[in-house]
Amino acid sequence: MAKKQAKSRNLVIFTLIVIALIVTLFVLNQMSKEAGKYQSFDNAPELTGQPLLGNKDAKVTIYEFGDYKCPSCKYWGEQIYPKLVKDYVDTGKANFSFINVLFHGEESRMSSLAAESVLAQNPEAFWPFHEALFRAQPDVESNWVTVNKMLEVAQTIQPGIDMAKLKSDIETLATQPQVTIDEDLVRNFKVKQTPTIMINDVMLDDPFDYDAIVELIEEKL
Ligand code: CA
Repeated sequence: MAKKQAKSRNLVIFTLIVIALIVTLFVLNQMSKEAGKYQSFDNAPELTGQPLLGNKDAKVTIYEFGDYKCPSCKYWGEQIYPKLVKDYVDTGKANFSFINVLFHGEESRMSSLAAESVLAQNPEAFWPFHEALFRAQPDVESNWVTVNKMLEVAQTIQPGIDMAKLKSDIETLATQPQVTIDEDLVRNFKVKQTPTIMINDVMLDDPFDYDAIVELIEEKL
């Protein structure tokens, strides 16, 4: 009898150890998953002077650190951006902002100068211009950002843009102070790839993981 009792007690202890082990492994696995997905900062990027699409009072801001010269940004703009706009911006739950990253040299700078000029002229014209710039990016790597190309793209959008002002803003680097603000943000937030996506003060490792973006937005709402 005593032997049987001891046997069943051992079985209980063994079962408990196995359960504890499984729980520990599960928690560790979840922790490592989360650690690889997000990076938290003390604050979100400063929005003053940045373009903002959607409800300005929304609790959540989706930031794209992007580059008009970057093919992945064009792809992100086609695959992820429309879904986010439909599900979160158009519904008023979140707004969207774009910060220039100049990882592709002088063409990145020129397209940023142009976009900042359009923003300064008329914030309503910014998003149509922004989207048209990504559409204008050719599928094959080439030098396509020129003053004439910027004017050509600007000509296609509504509301209309003052072409003479846009041309002189680009040529005289009039909007360089705004571009410098973005370059400082890129440095301060240690942005290493484009696009980089932040939801308020949290940066995602994978900008194409739509489920992770949604999870984070829902958490912040
Ligand atoms: Ca900016």
